[in-house]
Amino acid sequence: MKNATRCVSLSEEERYGAVSTPIYQTATFRQPTSTEFGEYDYSRSGNPTRTELEKKLAELERAEHAFAFSSGMSALSAIVKLLTTGDEILAGSNLYGGSIRLLERLPRLGINVRYVDTTDPQNVVEALSSRTRMLLIETPTNPFQRVSDIGVLADISHANGVLLVVDNTMLSPCLQNPITHGADIVYHSGTKFLSGHSDVTAGAVIVKDANIAKEIAFVQNAEGTALAPFDSWLLLRGIKTLDLRVEKQCSNALKVAEFLSSHPAVTNIYHPAFADEKARRIHESQASGGGSVIAFTTDDAEFSRRIVEATRLCSIAVSFGSVNSTISLPCYMSHASIPAELRGELAPPRDLIRISVGIENVDDVIEDLREAIRIASGSNVVAIGKAVGE
Ligand SMILES: *Cc1c(COP(=O)(O)O)cnc(C)c1O
Repeated sequence: MKNATRCVSLSEEERYGAVSTPIYQTATFRQPTSTEFGEYDYSRSGNPTRTELEKKLAELERAEHAFAFSSGMSALSAIVKLLTTGDEILAGSNLYGGSIRLLERLPRLGINVRYVDTTDPQNVVEALSSRTRMLLIETPTNPFQRVSDIGVLADISHANGVLLVVDNTMLSPCLQNPITHGADIVYHSGTKFLSGHSDVTAGAVIVKDANIAKEIAFVQNAEGTALAPFDSWLLLRGIKTLDLRVEKQCSNALKVAEFLSSHPAVTNIYHPAFADEKARRIHESQASGGGSVIAFTTDDAEFSRRIVEATRLCSIAVSFGSVNSTISLPCYMSHASIPAELRGELAPPRDLIRISVGIENVDDVIEDLREAIRIASGSNVVAIGKAVGE
């Protein structure tokens, strides 16, 4: 089955044939007797609505085991608990700000974290140490859209007893399935594409190996970080239109990126379709679309701030992957959580603007940006107006 079909296919196990999975809004389940347990006993340990979601997530990522968490960050937190004192993580150098914040807490538990530019696999080979147990990457990264080769990094990892973990939030399972390229663990912020409507905070961990799955299940149950029944239902509902939304958002984003790349106010643009030849080739070999996030610079932080604030259709908001277009200054917003001592190295520049393109009519989005740049240009209006032929 193709993804569009998987997204809407119904569970065969629903006992009454309900086409919308019921919300089992219950904390506990009656037992047959005091010494026998039914399939479910307590919702922290398992809930039928969540089970349906987890089956769907596993199916979409082409894996056996999936776990739904209360957020992308609690998903990552469960993954790093596979490690112990003395272990080391190699992490990509352009990770989501909140991921870096979480990782920076690990050294106090005796887990070392080092950042490496994984776009060149040779950097990983050189950075590996006898303590390295996990390689944690995003591809493409956010907001710079740097591409790493999942298959090559999987080979390097496995040759060195290292687990490859891929944050697949930027593309969703409809565009990229890292496990089919050799990744051991995939995680998502379900808050983004999977939900698609900015109405739920959620996370997911998807794994291939049964032993790793057992460990993740242990943490999910022991810590109580699983996704609640109603939120599981919201995510199930969002996933029904995932493929449709992603397709539309990708094609809209491409048109917006083309508009921006030809605008004289834009100095750099970041989107997989505008990456260099090598990155584009790698991306196209492992993903079936560029996603909906675009970033660009203007070389002028104040000008960028005025552009963001002059948009009307694009709302100023963190997050991405929603049906609504959003605009942000990552340096001050999504990536502000990068600890101060790492900012110089890992934070995006102040003039970088990020747009997540929604499902609106794309001409309206482009018009909004054109007008915002014009307003923000102030005294430069005439010059820029002339250059774009207005
Ligand atoms: C948002 C995001 C996260 C964190 O997910 P939450 O659901 O906000 O906890 C992790 N990785 C990436 C790439 C994200 O964009």
